[in-house]
Amino acid sequence: MTAATPHKTANPYENAIQQLDRALRYLEVSPGLADFLRRPRCEYTVNFPVRMDNGDIRMFTGYRVQHSIARGPAKGGIRYHPMVSMDEVRALAMWMTWKCAVVNLPYGGAKGGIIVDPRELSPGELERMTRRFAYELTPIIGPEKDIPAPDVNTGPQTMAWIMDTYSMVTGEPAPGVVTGKPITLGGSLGRVEATGRGVMYTTVRALRHLEIPVKGARVVVQGFGNVGSVAAYLLQDEGAKVIAISDVSGGLVNLDGIDVRDALAYAKAHGNLVQGYPKAKPISNEELLELECEVLVPAALENQITAANAGNIKARVIAEGANGPTTPDADDILASKGIMVIPDILCNAGGVTVSYLEWVQDRQRFFWTEQEINTRLEHIMNESFYAVLDIARNMKVDMRTAAYILAVQRVVDVAQLRGFYP
Ligand code: NAD
Repeated sequence: MTAATPHKTANPYENAIQQLDRALRYLEVSPGLADFLRRPRCEYTVNFPVRMDNGDIRMFTGYRVQHSIARGPAKGGIRYHPMVSMDEVRALAMWMTWKCAVVNLPYGGAKGGIIVDPRELSPGELERMTRRFAYELTPIIGPEKDIPAPDVNTGPQTMAWIMDTYSMVTGEPAPGVVTGKPITLGGSLGRVEATGRGVMYTTVRALRHLEIPVKGARVVVQGFGNVGSVAAYLLQDEGAKVIAISDVSGGLVNLDGIDVRDALAYAKAHGNLVQGYPKAKPISNEELLELECEVLVPAALENQITAANAGNIKARVIAEGANGPTTPDADDILASKGIMVIPDILCNAGGVTVSYLEWVQDRQRFFWTEQEINTRLEHIMNESFYAVLDIARNMKVDMRTAAYILAVQRVVDVAQLRGFYP
């Protein structure tokens, strides 16, 4: 399996458990409590019919997993992808618990998905599928229970349909049931850029820590969607040189630097794909990951950096825009090479942080300016980055283990204070 074929190389849930178990070695947690942390509290599978444009009925399968509600309502995105599986959703739900805890948001963790390639559906089919799934989830989601958000192949329009369906079924307008909504429906300014912005903030701190100048730092970005493209142009704005980008259509390299906004405009005009962009040369996804650079930003899907290619990676910093791009055995290889990994649960937490700010604004029916949002986001990302870095230094562990130690301890503290019902 190549690096360009995500999902298949390892089971993400097994990876998530291994990452948790590594952190548990450093914490005083009883075997029973450790088992509580490993297992999702609730797993929901729905098989549901959708009427297609030609009049036929097609069945779809969707999942929602709530890993934890110890620290607050469950929180996590919904993904549309043909490779969605229960184990993937389980892993992503668990990562959300740790992510919310690392940045100290009052949330638990959840994730959802539908097995579908949305490009095969018409806009009407996509809307009917989304609304039926939202209806099926209505008993378990809600502003105080479980709050979905966009993820791969879903966006503000998807959230608008979910919000409307939930509101119609419950009989009350409920903007707080989802985040990542369009601004006019109670969305937050800054949400669309938030994940990429958080990647930029943490990457800049990592480079400063390693005493690598941000100006001129060579950046390689895998995945040119919401996270990857924003991280790329914001890093470019900071003076870094983006030398390679890629998406599902392939990669592009230009060692003199790629004008990211120009490439983005090209992709927007060409079906959201960078293929054929004339100011850079084609490169395979495998070659792209192994380019000489200061920063590698995997911002596509899981299992891109594995034991098979970790030894060839030349970046000084890996900023995990995607969830789960690095397998645990690859982590060991990267650590032995002295590569600093900014782990996903920290690096891409900007999205859920501004989702939290959106939810707060919806509840108070009072909205902040984009500048206020970005200032709060920067403050939270900064505090979290240095809290993790301190643990990594003091306990002599890698950044991922440090982030897990911080997050898991926070969940354990809350679980122990609350006790176990009854
Ligand atoms: P997206 O759908 O906007 O973009 C995904 C990008 O990855 C697209 O450019 C796609 O073409 C590309 N891609 C897919 N398969 C690829 C492959 N094999 N090789 C190279 N590129 C490939 O999704 P997104 O919202 O940017 O999410 C990307 C990752 O970031 C996911 O792991 C997601 O879970 C994670 N994430 C997203 C957010 C968010 O706010 N959107 C927050 C936290 C984490």
